[in-house]
Amino acid sequence: MKPILLIIFAIFLNHCAQDQNKRKNRAEPQTYFLGDPQVLIAGTSKNLNSFVSLDNLLNFEDYSLQGHYDFAPRAIQTGPITSQEELEDRNATDRPTAPQKIPSYQFEAINDETITYSDKTIPEYPQLRFSKVQDEFHLTHINGVAVEPLHYSLSENGEVFSILMSYQSRYGETLKALYFTKNKAISSFRRFTERNFAYLIDRSVAVGWEERLDLSLCGSMSPEERRTFTRSISKWETAPGKISDLDFSLNYQPVAQPFSDVNQTCVQLISGYRLETQEDLAVLGVAIPVINPASGRIVAANSFIFDDAHDKIKARDQFEATITHEIGHVLGLGHEFLRDPDTGRPVHDSIMGYANYPEISDWDRDAIEALYSEETGSFTFVD
Ligand SMILES: [Zn+2]
Repeated sequence: MKPILLIIFAIFLNHCAQDQNKRKNRAEPQTYFLGDPQVLIAGTSKNLNSFVSLDNLLNFEDYSLQGHYDFAPRAIQTGPITSQEELEDRNATDRPTAPQKIPSYQFEAINDETITYSDKTIPEYPQLRFSKVQDEFHLTHINGVAVEPLHYSLSENGEVFSILMSYQSRYGETLKALYFTKNKAISSFRRFTERNFAYLIDRSVAVGWEERLDLSLCGSMSPEERRTFTRSISKWETAPGKISDLDFSLNYQPVAQPFSDVNQTCVQLISGYRLETQEDLAVLGVAIPVINPASGRIVAANSFIFDDAHDKIKARDQFEATITHEIGHVLGLGHEFLRDPDTGRPVHDSIMGYANYPEISDWDRDAIEALYSEETGSFTFVD
């Protein structure tokens, strides 16, 4: 069982592989400064009204934790990545997935004022503690560590909710987002039988949005930045307002909810915060798709494009490609890392690889078409 089911995607660039032999003190753990994570939610419109009340506690039984993610001010190097192969291996999306056991969170009363929310079948999953304030229950602790809730969000159909909080980690004041999805009978993932496309959770297992995707450019952007984002994102459209059979729209939300909100799908330009954990790598962007394994669908997503990271590794020419790549993840594509074992060259040109292919390729278009076209007819349902 993987402790974190949320899939985090990043483009890494090994910009100075030729310098690797010059590096010293590789065995010394090093701390890298990432910036203040509060910039990720600066200027957002937070909702501090908890959706958990005495009246509806039972509504939140049998949800499963689909992901949790921390944005910290600093990070400890977790062992150097020294080759392109290692980089791709760490970020691969086509590992065979274990059979899904869907865990289930339950409330338990400690006393009249305090309840816990936990999954006793998976001890490594965090236990949440809520305290009653008037008619609502507010998050106060995770695994006994005090947290401050920053934002609650619940989708209209109740399929997914999130809680954003801050807490003091050993690396400073850290933002943590938790995502839960409602369990139903597990449906089958669609598996394509003819084409070996790279999707989010395994090769050829197609997980996408149900019918439509309303994507927002969130946070303040200059007109030029908006044009750049619009151009990069619209490359996925196969017809105006359509990505294959998926209805698609793009709007601008200068004042959005925090990134964790499940009722918006944001792509944000972030300055003053980066994610790299070693000096010769940069994470240019991140996508956080939340998948409900019960429905086999993406039910929420968010993406960050890190402006400073492009400056750091002088990757300005990759800025638009980064946006297009991350939106590929938001749409349901994984990393296209297949290489020919004899030549070591990528088998498929793809914007979803790390080989600096700068545009959406025919292979990428075919993958999107297969994911969202009802006429493809080339998939079967698997248990
Ligand atoms: Zn990626």
